[in-house]
Amino acid sequence: MQNSPLSKIILEEREFFVKRDDLIDPCLAGNKYRKLYTLLNTPDNIYDTLISYGGTQSNAMLALAALCQKKKWKFLYYTKKLSATQKERGSGNYAHALKLGMQHIEIENDFYKEFIASLRLHVNAKTCFVDQGGAVQEAKAGLKVLAQEIQEQSRGLHVKAVATPSGTGTTALFLALALPEYRVYTTPCIGDSSYLKTQMRALAEIPNNLVILEPKRKYHFAKPYKEFYEIYKALHVKGIEFDLLYAPAMWQALLEQTSEKMIYIHSGGVSGNESMLKRYRKKRFVSDCAKIS
Ligand SMILES: *Cc1c(COP(=O)(O)O)cnc(C)c1O
Repeated sequence: MQNSPLSKIILEEREFFVKRDDLIDPCLAGNKYRKLYTLLNTPDNIYDTLISYGGTQSNAMLALAALCQKKKWKFLYYTKKLSATQKERGSGNYAHALKLGMQHIEIENDFYKEFIASLRLHVNAKTCFVDQGGAVQEAKAGLKVLAQEIQEQSRGLHVKAVATPSGTGTTALFLALALPEYRVYTTPCIGDSSYLKTQMRALAEIPNNLVILEPKRKYHFAKPYKEFYEIYKALHVKGIEFDLLYAPAMWQALLEQTSEKMIYIHSGGVSGNESMLKRYRKKRFVSDCAKIS
């Protein structure tokens, strides 16, 4: 694989570089590509099945489905029971992952936690188990590769900081560990900073060069917010589409709380926008006839 390119954009009169990990692959891009790098480079015959679990619109789910299709591995994905409307949503990552061969199994909500815990204990040698969102130690190797690309590509740019949004924090944490000479900015998109730190500490000690920006307002994950759409649109007209779940909170925190020159690591996830934009239209943050893509 060639290095993903760097783009430059001006936002609110500030210059940002964007590391275009969104361009790596339509389904297996962004930080999910980096996090699954080790698995992607695992010989096909090591496993025959991959098991994971989580939400049905998850970007990790789609990336795993694409990975398993490439590897010819069976992909079993466990979720809680879906509501009728969730099933109806025949678009976005869920529909896409099914097309790629994902086998979806619903577990009654009451048993879900226990079921997942026991699932992990009973996998055989030919089965690979991936925790929700790809929060695994193996993610380290792929983020090291990303760090090397950044070191090469930023020569002469006078940049000493990078930024990327956090869900589990796996990406930001391993990137910070692999780039000790850079400041790595992130912001929690799921829960608050203390929840994010707890998740990170389960993987490794948090290094000093990792800077967690606390959002100025409280946002609930995956809910539509007018200001998120505004940022999405402002970036879109500059020529780069970002995801609607994570990127807007990161951009907002950067614009409000930082002033230094940096590289924003595009974390992918644009494939999930189709279903999010539908919800934005429903909320009337976007008028029905507005041309957005
Ligand atoms: C999964 C995801 C994240 C969060 O990555 P973590 O490593 O879990 O922190 C951020 N942005 C996008 C677009 C994602 O799909």
